[in-house]
Amino acid sequence: MARVSSLELIKRACEKGCAVPAFNIDNLESAIAVSEAMRETGVPLIVQTIPRTLRYGGKAVYSAMMSALMEGCKTDYAMHLDHGDSAELAAECVRNGYTSVMFDGSGLSFDENVRITRGVAEASFPKGVSVEGELGKVGGSEESSFDVEPSCTDVGEAVKFTAATKVSALAVSVGNAHGVYKGVPRINLARISELYAAVDTPLVLHGASGLSDATLRDCIKAGIRKINFATELRGAYTEGIKRGFARYPDSFDPKVYMRVAIDGIKEVVFRKIEICNEI
Ligand SMILES: [Zn+2]
Repeated sequence: MARVSSLELIKRACEKGCAVPAFNIDNLESAIAVSEAMRETGVPLIVQTIPRTLRYGGKAVYSAMMSALMEGCKTDYAMHLDHGDSAELAAECVRNGYTSVMFDGSGLSFDENVRITRGVAEASFPKGVSVEGELGKVGGSEESSFDVEPSCTDVGEAVKFTAATKVSALAVSVGNAHGVYKGVPRINLARISELYAAVDTPLVLHGASGLSDATLRDCIKAGIRKINFATELRGAYTEGIKRGFARYPDSFDPKVYMRVAIDGIKEVVFRKIEICNEI
């Protein structure tokens, strides 16, 4: 097992001009899917959990599960806290073996966001842990209407934020949204290019589920170096369980129908790995 920081993997992507895919896991089945994908492709990935997942399965569970699943595998990967909501949770994840944490202060004032993100960075960097910050509000599927321009990350603020916090990576809002997109997503590629030109910090795209392959490629060309996928994996998992039930209607063994769900997740993971690593 070679667990490295996200920054280590993102740096390699920066050199090649590609992106590191980051996959959210929810349970043993999604952890099996991403670890098998790494064993089969040898491509390094970022494996991540949101706070809600940690509340569901237990804060120490996912890191331990990935360690066990990656035993003997030489492929590098990072264990990342996605959308961390407090400095305390970030510190706890680091204690549990996470090599990368995000503090999402995008809902706070600029100054508060800087203050807490910088604190997380100062506590994490000496331990070799990379830190992702977020600036600009990424929309969510729960919003009834989503206006692209007003929520886009401001270039001047991004320059100030990255200088003040020294974050390893910056999640930006460029018309992307979490969950399922309503209507056709309109990604502001020009803003990605402006941010890429203005800040040295690698840029992260959240809410990439539902973006076309062509849009993902355009985002990478414009300067995105880490892409988060969560919703599409959850969808593939759910559809896979339904297919498993249909294929084995008489089975009462989760190991039988869950295998179909694991393979469903893997299909999505393989496709995203391919797109992110095209040069
Ligand atoms: Zn996100």
